[in-house]
Amino acid sequence: MSGEYVSDSHPADAELERYRHSTAHIMASAVKSLSPEAKLGFGPAIEDGFYYDFDVPEPFSPEFLGEVEARMAAIIEADEPFERQEMAREEAIEFFRGRGEALKVEHLETDLLDGTVTLYRHGDFVDLCRGPHLARTGEVNPAGVKLLSIAGAYWKGDARNRMLQRIYGTAWKDKKELDAYLERVEEAKRRDHRRLGRELDLYNTYEDSGPGLVMWHPKGSKVRAIIEDFWRREHERAGYDYVYTPHIARGGLFERSGHLEKFSEMMYNPMDIDGIDYYLKPMNCPAHILIYSSRGRSYRDLPMRFCELGTVYRYEPSGTLHGMLRVRGFTQDDAHIFCTPEQFEDEVVGVLDFVEMMMRTFHYTFTRYLATRPEKYLGDAATWEGAEAGLRRALERRGSDYVVDDGGGVFYGPKIDYKLIDALGREWQGPTVQLDFNLPERFDMVYMAPDGTRKRPVMIHRALLGSMERFIGGLVEHYAGAFPVWLAPVQARVMTVTDAQREYAESVVGRLKEAGLRAELDGRNEKVGLKIREAQVQKVPYSLVVGDKEVAAGTVAVRKYHTKTTETCTVEDVADRLCREAASKELLVGGD
Ligand SMILES: [Zn+2]
Ligand SMILES: [Zn+2]
Repeated sequence: MSGEYVSDSHPADAELERYRHSTAHIMASAVKSLSPEAKLGFGPAIEDGFYYDFDVPEPFSPEFLGEVEARMAAIIEADEPFERQEMAREEAIEFFRGRGEALKVEHLETDLLDGTVTLYRHGDFVDLCRGPHLARTGEVNPAGVKLLSIAGAYWKGDARNRMLQRIYGTAWKDKKELDAYLERVEEAKRRDHRRLGRELDLYNTYEDSGPGLVMWHPKGSKVRAIIEDFWRREHERAGYDYVYTPHIARGGLFERSGHLEKFSEMMYNPMDIDGIDYYLKPMNCPAHILIYSSRGRSYRDLPMRFCELGTVYRYEPSGTLHGMLRVRGFTQDDAHIFCTPEQFEDEVVGVLDFVEMMMRTFHYTFTRYLATRPEKYLGDAATWEGAEAGLRRALERRGSDYVVDDGGGVFYGPKIDYKLIDALGREWQGPTVQLDFNLPERFDMVYMAPDGTRKRPVMIHRALLGSMERFIGGLVEHYAGAFPVWLAPVQARVMTVTDAQREYAESVVGRLKEAGLRAELDGRNEKVGLKIREAQVQKVPYSLVVGDKEVAAGTVAVRKYHTKTTETCTVEDVADRLCREAASKELLVGGD
């Protein structure tokens, strides 16, 4: 249901949340009236809808949803008021015990220890609830309500508890909004990177090799290699140095970095090498610090910017693994910048410019967040304030709008986060520029200042794409699999009408390849209509058809993906056009 893609949900506005949660109560009362033995679990509003959990002897049937919808319409029609009532906790326990609501009793006894609780009532339905609610059931528009699915869900999300039946629904102000939402859900399914990944033969995960471990097939690898080449060129231009570091390291390194203490639940068990514990690295930072500290550094050496496409391994529970978006091994486009406090602000400006150039290249829009000092933090308040002021000045120097995420920083430093907005308007967790007061201390990092004293460098962690897996998985959904020409694993497919054009078609492929393009031949003994359809399904940007007429004229019939028109061009013209389109990095469908 919601959250199939891993996204930070939009903070639902309070009014919509009240509307949806009230609809959840109406649904629960409909379920209780149809199935009085159902015991109430929880029923919150969620992104784009709501759910309600019920403890029932038998799972609900799919037909049941229709009955519930009909009963909900009657409850809305009856226009019953929602009434709030306060009750002493002890009294509420007895009240719900009397109604046979065992889960409510348990919740009251174990979680709600305050003296007074609130109940909401409409008709003869009563729920333990903080509210708020609408004034009356009649304020819900039944035309905007739809029950979507039934799923099993553990009480309180804990697999040791009993399995409940969860009904998901959605509620909008009217039918038009509901239909638009259902269309977005369908579009998201059409764009699902797991499905497109298989259909376009880009990548997959295999039970045989282990869940959450991605195999990049040749076409997905091509896309990745193009992005990595671009990434390397741009890093070189921005003054970074590449480094490569091993996948494993001795436990001592991660003890010193604090990862074994703070992140051990995401690290895999060690392996024994010569009697010493070695761990798969969960992060690249400690290795980059070793390189920094491999010799004495002076202020003249700074800033130093190390970048690495570094593969890391982190434990994710199997239930949370999701296609390319949540995996157990992934390659970060990582970098660490070490600089003097005086250089810090310029460095941040440089990183922000870099981030935004990259995100625009991939046609994302974004929102910036400045995450400030959390309640528990390392270091002193003055250092934090200085660093936060530096981040603010960097944002302001660029004229960048940003939202302050008060207290949203990590314990070891403030950061600037980006949230990306994709073609469907969904928000994704994007690049992060993170300041670190912790690791330079732990590793006793120093540089020689102009006055001859030893000083701590400032350390910035930053990733532009996040990980190749997650970024490309997200990109597949963003582009609906139709990669811009510069990224398309195959840019042009040449198709023969009959076998008579084979030799000419091969020469066309050869000339396109000479022009540096990725072209292939479909010379199968099939109808050309079928070949064109298949190329469209594979989302190949350009289909080039050659029949006898084209052979005689030395041309090709060109058809772009997602269009129905064909034009006749010389091979040179097509090659020029594709090269220009690749250089522009423009969208394949739509346009900027
Ligand atoms: Zn409620
Ligand atoms: Zn790092």
